[in-house]
Amino acid sequence: MKPAPFDYVAARTVAEAVEALGGTGHKAQVLAGGQSLILEMRLQRVRPDLVVDINRIRELGGMSIEDGDLRVGALVRHTAFESAEVAPGPLGTLLSRAVVNIAHPPIRSRGTMVGSFGWAHPASEWCAIGVTLEAVVEMTGPDGTRSVAAGDYFLGPHRSERRPMELITSVRLPLLREDTGVGFLEHRRTGFCFAQVAVAATLTVTDGAISGARIGLANCADRPVRARAAERSLAGADIGPLPEGARLPDDHLFAHAGRIAAQEDAAPVAEPYADVEYKRQVIAVLVGRTLLEAAADQRARLAVREGRR
Ligand SMILES: Cc1cc2nc3c(=O)[nH]c(=O)nc-3n(C[C@H](O)[C@H](O)[C@H](O)COP(=O)(O)OP(=O)(O)OC[C@H]3O[C@@H](n4cnc5c(N)ncnc54)[C@H](O)[C@@H]3O)c2cc1C
Repeated sequence: MKPAPFDYVAARTVAEAVEALGGTGHKAQVLAGGQSLILEMRLQRVRPDLVVDINRIRELGGMSIEDGDLRVGALVRHTAFESAEVAPGPLGTLLSRAVVNIAHPPIRSRGTMVGSFGWAHPASEWCAIGVTLEAVVEMTGPDGTRSVAAGDYFLGPHRSERRPMELITSVRLPLLREDTGVGFLEHRRTGFCFAQVAVAATLTVTDGAISGARIGLANCADRPVRARAAERSLAGADIGPLPEGARLPDDHLFAHAGRIAAQEDAAPVAEPYADVEYKRQVIAVLVGRTLLEAAADQRARLAVREGRR
């Protein structure tokens, strides 16, 4: 199918983009990487009367470290995160482990992290990481700029706190402490599909006990969510020796946290090939394995710091 007719503006500054978005009320769309928007327009599920192309706005193209955050501009493509060097410490590792799960290389070379926040798909890896790390979404509109915490930003499938006349200029992700380990795992049907379930986790361990745990879930509710009950079940727990391999004994604290996440934190929505019960089983297993990956990462970082590796 072909898109319905629309007008097109190629903005050169944020001010020009905001002016264009403000001129048409609710029917404008922003063109960033176009990897979701163009497909939706061709299927005529999205029919904007105006497309505001932001690809010529130079100020949106960069990344920087500011006040302990990685600030990601609206035109930074997914591929930029393929190297762990993209950010210092565990944050760079987490982003590089997550990005390889997003679609495939041609889509990653055009699609943007910030565009994923604009699209607000419940299965988006970046949106789940944003919620996990308490990222901040920065927007500019006719009334000026404002910031919204990722945990408050998502309202449901393709629904967010962003007003139609606002442009997301960047997303700020906090850097992670060196004593934090990270994990990211997902389950998908084919390489081209969105995740049926994806899990991001960070674990901070002090003197052998868990002093901080964060678990974020993608496609386990109508929006990305934190698994807060599962996080609470880990607080202060002695981490002990890590089991070998991915399979956790049923009585392991990570397996227990996985079951809590599946039953108390997730609100899965059935989809073709994955009903609610199936999703809960996958969440339980995947949360446990992601925590194990984060714990192994934390151990490896500690060994490097102590000169054992
Ligand atoms: C086959 C296929 C598989 C995919 N698999 C995955 C996957 O596994 N995981 C995943 O996360 N994504 C996946 N995607 C989507 C892809 O990652 C997109 O790149 C992503 O949704 C972001 O889009 P974009 O930059 O291309 O934004 P666009 O497509 O240009 O825009 C998407 C939406 O966001 C809005 N938007 C974009 N930028 C801004 C901004 N700066 N301010 C305000 N609104 C904005 C637009 O108005 C539009 O509504 C897949 C896409 C395809 C086609």
